[in-house]
Amino acid sequence: MPDPDSRPALKLLQTVYGYETFRGDQEAIIEHVVGGGDAFVLMPTGSGKSICYQIPALIRNGPGVVISPLIALMHDQVSALRQLGIKAACLNSSLSMDEARRTEGAYVRGEIDLLYAAPERLVTPRFLELLDRVRPGLFAIDEAHCVSQWGHDFRPEYLQLAFLRERFPGVPRLALTATADEATRRDILVRLRLDDARLFIAGFDRPNISYTVTPKLDTKSQLLRFLRRGHADDSGIVYCLTRRRVEQVAGLLVTHGFPALPYHAGLEAPQRREHQDRFLRDERTVMVATIAFGMGIDKPDVRFVAHLDLPKSLEAYYQETGRAGRDGLPAEAWMTYGLSDVVTLRSFTAQSEADEDHKRIERHKLDALLGFCETTRCRRQVMLEYFGQQLPVPCGNCDTCLNPIETWEGTVAAQMALSAVARTGQRFGAAYLVALLRGEPTERMQQFGHDRLSTFGVGKDLTKPQWHSVFRQLVAAGLLNVDIEGYGGLHLDGRSGPVLRGQEAIHFRRDPLLSETQTRKGRAEPAGGKRTRVGRKGESGEEADLGRKRARAAGKTEFDDEADQVLFDALRQTRRELAQQQGVPPYVIFHDTTLREMVQYRPADASALTALSGVGSVKLGRYGEAFLAVIRRNTPE
Ligand code: ADP
Ligand code: ZN
Repeated sequence: MPDPDSRPALKLLQTVYGYETFRGDQEAIIEHVVGGGDAFVLMPTGSGKSICYQIPALIRNGPGVVISPLIALMHDQVSALRQLGIKAACLNSSLSMDEARRTEGAYVRGEIDLLYAAPERLVTPRFLELLDRVRPGLFAIDEAHCVSQWGHDFRPEYLQLAFLRERFPGVPRLALTATADEATRRDILVRLRLDDARLFIAGFDRPNISYTVTPKLDTKSQLLRFLRRGHADDSGIVYCLTRRRVEQVAGLLVTHGFPALPYHAGLEAPQRREHQDRFLRDERTVMVATIAFGMGIDKPDVRFVAHLDLPKSLEAYYQETGRAGRDGLPAEAWMTYGLSDVVTLRSFTAQSEADEDHKRIERHKLDALLGFCETTRCRRQVMLEYFGQQLPVPCGNCDTCLNPIETWEGTVAAQMALSAVARTGQRFGAAYLVALLRGEPTERMQQFGHDRLSTFGVGKDLTKPQWHSVFRQLVAAGLLNVDIEGYGGLHLDGRSGPVLRGQEAIHFRRDPLLSETQTRKGRAEPAGGKRTRVGRKGESGEEADLGRKRARAAGKTEFDDEADQVLFDALRQTRRELAQQQGVPPYVIFHDTTLREMVQYRPADASALTALSGVGSVKLGRYGEAFLAVIRRNTPE
């Protein structure tokens, strides 16, 4: 056991935060910054970046100034710190003149350890004057990827932060982000002039998040099934591409009894704030949102992130799904995806004003994302490889690991699809082509005389969803291209020649949801040993199977023991009341992880309680008795 007295940082971790040991690079980062060094910290969401600047701010002379883009969240960040007994405050445009003046006074008198401010505030003469009166002990630049145009949350105000280096020489600066991309990373260092910063780059894996990507069939009922199966009482986020869809889906969920709220840039600011607050304070709200929502949300108990539309890139996907499971407990990332997504995103890219170089990069990013969706390998491995890291063995906690994907030899089907495209003049979309291949004539088809083509009706052996799967995979593999007008017309890529000529074989993944109706064309090649079983009504064998396996892997919300569940609920109730009294989110009182430990260890007194993770001295003093009483009441002699 290390001696905490000789390690002030560790002592603070234990007494203030109630955590036993540092994680990963935390201690090294803290030592480096306490010693006056600059640092660039790239760690995944939920891995504990905040402590890396909070503890140095407590140790160094002078308060820590934290630059954060999220005015709407500063208040919660500050209340979480105050719960720990840390003197924190924020200065932003939401304060009245009076409040701002009071905070400034406290800062000057040395009564503040951590001051949060937005970047545009920081560069005002008034603020700089304040910093000149009391020199900060450090600057922490949170969400540092906002400085980069490559990142997805570019904030021009961040560019001004480069001046800190000259203006405050000798004051260490830490830039922190969870954004993994190489280009963004380099950009941050250059733009913030972090020339001598030490880099701390952690692994990107989030092992407690399980990943599933499933083809779009009927998105809405798929979503409802997903929620009912394991998240009926959970808080989570559902991402949609457009405002209209956000409204529709939120409405649908409410109709089906889920406390869902919409969030998008089209809502008035007060309403957005109210929805965000409710999401942070409630334990089972589902936020249905565009990507306008989510940055900086540090709600620890987000149990799922669902995407009904494809995100812009694998990086964005990682970022968005990363909002799940910050508390380390099991969480799910779930996405539906179809050809229509590819059409939409390709036409976005093609129509954007960006220059050719930029477009090429965007295309490349989209291809990587499609590769992730269509993979038959472990999804986590594919994702980490994209970020330049290796996971030596498959994770066992993604859909392709839990239910290995079969492939089928689809050269003939591919040839049929490609020649249908060619014979119809390379301008029709998948729906038309599928109808043609299946010999289902429409009026339009007859007008064009396409019902007399040799490809008409040659594909009756595959079902409609199977043909859609084929077209989707041909597009994802780059054998077919989507017209840039956004109508979904498909044309051949140069790469399709060898396939059409029979010089190249094609293997398709068998989409799990479709495989219970056996493909008759082509032989199934099981990639793993699993066979389809018959599931509940309305779901395929794989789907039911996956649900069961995942529930087992997760082993979460439910306790085996009834009495444990009763205690847990009682603890949550107490936490809710305490939070309401103070107008703070429940998790700033104690996290679920701490409540779970209370159930597991049933501490009888203060010293047993303080041994639990997340019980520091201030919280022990404030809440110890209340929670001990609940434990006592619910524990038989
Ligand atoms: P990030 O900013 O990297 O997303 P946070 O700083 O919000 O992550 O930390 C995520 C969670 O992990 C928080 O609840 C935090 O209190 C907790 N945490 C951080 N460091 C430790 C540690 N050394 N031991 C236990 N829990 C920790
Ligand atoms: Zn896996």
